[in-house]
Amino acid sequence: TNPKPTFRRVLLKLSGEALMGEEGFGIDPKVLDRMAQEIKELVEQGIQVGLVIGGGNIFRGEGLAKAGMNRVVGDHMGMLATVINGLAMRDALHRAYVNARLMSAFPLNGVCDNYNWAEAISLLKTGRVVIFSAGTGNPFFTTDSAACLRGIEIEADAVLKGTKVDGVYSDDPMKNPDAVKHDTLTYADVLDNELKVMDLAAFTLARDHELPIMVFNMNKPGALRRVIMGEAEGTLISK
Ligand code: UDP
Repeated sequence: TNPKPTFRRVLLKLSGEALMGEEGFGIDPKVLDRMAQEIKELVEQGIQVGLVIGGGNIFRGEGLAKAGMNRVVGDHMGMLATVINGLAMRDALHRAYVNARLMSAFPLNGVCDNYNWAEAISLLKTGRVVIFSAGTGNPFFTTDSAACLRGIEIEADAVLKGTKVDGVYSDDPMKNPDAVKHDTLTYADVLDNELKVMDLAAFTLARDHELPIMVFNMNKPGALRRVIMGEAEGTLISK
């Protein structure tokens, strides 16, 4: 195995659902603290960590719109949900003695900082975890798009997408026991075979800027560390 980390600066994307653990809604404090510990391990290795957290454990604009709400307002609520998760994660990181900053794509004076590209990079360089919340700041996008956007902006070596499964499979592994996991894929493989990795807007942004995407299981303790060390884990999508 490789003793030196494969990645120097990463954009870690966690879905809101990952934070809710076994609960059906909200945030499971045990899951939050475990993730904070895993992020701390990376920081202690000298890895620079940008973080994007989803909001699906609280609100999604699409779901709210299906229930009759105006989509734009629903997306505003979804983006605010990512700020709630960001506040919880910043708090968990601080309790774990990890220096972390929370930035929002739109101003929330007194709650967190405004997104600032140059400041984010200088914070990362001094070992701070920077949490990018409120997605892209625009409706009709997802936090996967935000993760790719911020990942490209901060020149991350990869977007690490933490999911509930071990990687990208030939079919849904929850439904088809014969589904096989891919270790590596190209962007073209994903598009040609219509494999589910991210929504198309997010995926094509990553492809166009050659930002590698690593899909791994965030529920599997230690998987994040193994990804960073370049050990067999997850699925890496690149050129
Ligand atoms: N959202 C948005 N613009 C963005 C990012 C997110 O409007 O740039 C809204 C959208 O309603 C989305 C919700 O915030 O459904 C939560 O984000 P997402 O669904 O990506 O969260 P995840 O599935 O990762 O938990």
